[in-house]
Amino acid sequence: MAAKKLSDSLFSKRLLEEVQRWGSMKQTGVSLRYMLEFGSRFTERNLILAAQFLHKELPIRIARRAIELQSLPYGLSEKPAILKVRDWYLDSFRDLRSFPDVKEKNDEQEFTKMINLIKVRHNNVVPTMALGVQQLKKDLDPKLDYKDLDDIHQFLDRFYMSRIGIRMLIGQHVAMHEPNPPPDRIGYIHTKMSPVEVARNASEDARSVCLREYGSAPDVHVYGDPNFTFPYVPNHLHLMVFELVKNSLRAVEERFMDSDKIAPPIRIIVADGLEDVTIKVSDEGGGIPRSGLPRIFTYLYSTAKNPLDERADLGTADIATMAGYGFGLPISRLYARYFGGDLQIISMEGYGTDAYLHLSRLGDSQEPLP
Ligand code: ADP
Ligand code: MG
Repeated sequence: MAAKKLSDSLFSKRLLEEVQRWGSMKQTGVSLRYMLEFGSRFTERNLILAAQFLHKELPIRIARRAIELQSLPYGLSEKPAILKVRDWYLDSFRDLRSFPDVKEKNDEQEFTKMINLIKVRHNNVVPTMALGVQQLKKDLDPKLDYKDLDDIHQFLDRFYMSRIGIRMLIGQHVAMHEPNPPPDRIGYIHTKMSPVEVARNASEDARSVCLREYGSAPDVHVYGDPNFTFPYVPNHLHLMVFELVKNSLRAVEERFMDSDKIAPPIRIIVADGLEDVTIKVSDEGGGIPRSGLPRIFTYLYSTAKNPLDERADLGTADIATMAGYGFGLPISRLYARYFGGDLQIISMEGYGTDAYLHLSRLGDSQEPLP
């Protein structure tokens, strides 16, 4: 079936057969600890070894995604936005497969440039997929329950989890070539990341989005030892806290907008345990009704107006908007799980919501490989 759908595309039959073959090979995962150890002793030899690993591993991961993108239910695969994403995956697969074996320094440098271009090509995958899902949402029978769309949610979870891994691997490799890496950095990993500091920055960024959209923004207080550090990826933590704080700001804004009471601050507590670093984001924004809770981690659920409806230029849709894609919580949970953590939401309807973000400290859990 997949082959028939693709027959009218720009991609040759041979390429598509190769995609099938590579998509059935076994993926190999790495852990945060491994990335740290490998990245801390990078010699020319190690860089070549890493490039050889990626040369084999990336096409396997990319092929699996390309295959899945072709066989989605409810006609999702035929939505123009999804076809565009599929073509990016096929182009990247072809770039990787047509690249000769990496044998020496020069090949390694060329290879690094090529995979960096792949990373750039896929920059807009999340908003483009979101657009495809919105296109589907419009056609669907409104009587369909979110449970009927379980297979789509599971596909998206696998798809985005895999994307996080691919970008992490490419990003680590590319970063090894930086001439003057900042201190305590190994690629994307900060060996002495202060979660309090990252939480503060992410909260300020979320507050500015809130200010722009509502004209005001509740305070955010961060509690915890700013000198406490552990190895983690600051970009990932920033993204997760940013999404959680935006949700809290929006809930508090909407609840207190027309009241003369002062909006209560959002409280972030950072705790360092032996196993986990846990970050709690607490708000008094009224909570989420219990009936809505099973849906908050799905990709089709948002109580906000869809920002894509108002956006003409969809090619460059950026996700830095308060709410409305319904992607904030599920994607944040994937980032947490990628390194062995998790995200939980506890709500008290009529009062507020607590989000618990657990980050695994040990760093030796293997990448999940969907
Ligand atoms: P979006 O923010 O784009 O709607 P999210 O995945 O971030 O998508 O959140 C999904 C939905 O969960 C929100 O639309 C909102 O209804 C609910 N929600 C999330 N966090 C909170 C919160 N702190 N307080 C109240 N409702 C929340
Ligand atoms: Mg959100």
